[in-house]
Amino acid sequence: MAEKNLDLAARLRPALAGFEPYDPAFSPCRVNLSANENTHALPEEVRAAIDAALLATPLNRYPDPMANELRDAIAERHGVARGSVCVGNGGDELLFNLLFAFGGPGRTLVTCPPDFSEYANFAAMCETAVERVWRDAEDFSVDADALVAAAAGADLVFVTSPNNPTGDLLDPAVVRRLLDETDALVMVDEAYVEFAPEGSSVVGWVASEPRLMVLRTLSKAFGLAGARVGYLVADPAVVDVLGAVRQIYSVDVLAQAAGLAALRCREALAGTVADIVAERERLAAGLSELPGVRTWPSSANFVLVRVPRAAEVRRRLRDEHSVLVRDFSAAPGLEGCLRLSVGTREENDALLDALATLVREES
Ligand SMILES: *Cc1c(COP(=O)(O)O)cnc(C)c1O
Repeated sequence: MAEKNLDLAARLRPALAGFEPYDPAFSPCRVNLSANENTHALPEEVRAAIDAALLATPLNRYPDPMANELRDAIAERHGVARGSVCVGNGGDELLFNLLFAFGGPGRTLVTCPPDFSEYANFAAMCETAVERVWRDAEDFSVDADALVAAAAGADLVFVTSPNNPTGDLLDPAVVRRLLDETDALVMVDEAYVEFAPEGSSVVGWVASEPRLMVLRTLSKAFGLAGARVGYLVADPAVVDVLGAVRQIYSVDVLAQAAGLAALRCREALAGTVADIVAERERLAAGLSELPGVRTWPSSANFVLVRVPRAAEVRRRLRDEHSVLVRDFSAAPGLEGCLRLSVGTREENDALLDALATLVREES
């Protein structure tokens, strides 16, 4: 007899058991500093250029699958050929596709947690083993010897510079060692590198290092998180593989048009990035004056803090001050930690004022 009971657990691909829909726990708040978005309004001329590009984009035709015009602009930005660039529906799609293509049963990814939680998620979905080289519990530094040793027996290594959520840069010498002393594919996630000092990126090495891949996104410095555009700079052979396995129309015509317009305006966006960097330092200085609050140096557009009674402080920030930040206090290696994205001066002041009150009341 036909069974009425939808026994999904038995039908689901076993590797996908236990995954939950992603819920960033957004609640509408006056000040949202929870997702590392660029909260500055786009400069008027940039917004106008994007709007004009969107208006001129027909919606009845399928997108160019590989987004070649956008690729060309990205390639020019980094001084590489079109064939070295793969565009994705956000950096997230590219991270997934890297594991889809180069991971799988019997393969191993090495990561350095606490880091971007999607790495381990996507690895699990793609049935890829994860070997974790935990960062120092005090200063979050990466043990280069331990990382190289782990990578020597692995297929893939994902490192993050600056790292999310700890904010620190990875010494390029560590990437050098990974390339010289191991045979792994090495992905350096530079989602936040525009907020780091000049010279922090290793993207210039890709041309001479076929196993190096560098991930970038327009979601952070470029202020286009909603448009979903990220890209990988890698060897053309890697790009060809990704081109073959990707969802063919994953980057829609509006995203391609907006991304292209924003890239062409990047001089105009530099002021916003400089402002966020200055505000980061001001926020960090303000935080360091609060009793019992610990911060770590950040090269990104957020600051990680450890506060007493962090989960309660985060809840009261949201409920009593309408300020939303990200709670990492229950994440391994991040006990008591909150991640504060850097907003505008007014937003950062609201956050600092509210935190000063709550830290006093909770201690
Ligand atoms: C935000 C982020 C990305 C990519 O984000 P997309 O919006 O998918 O482009 C990649 N890596 C890290 C570490 C990030 O924080």
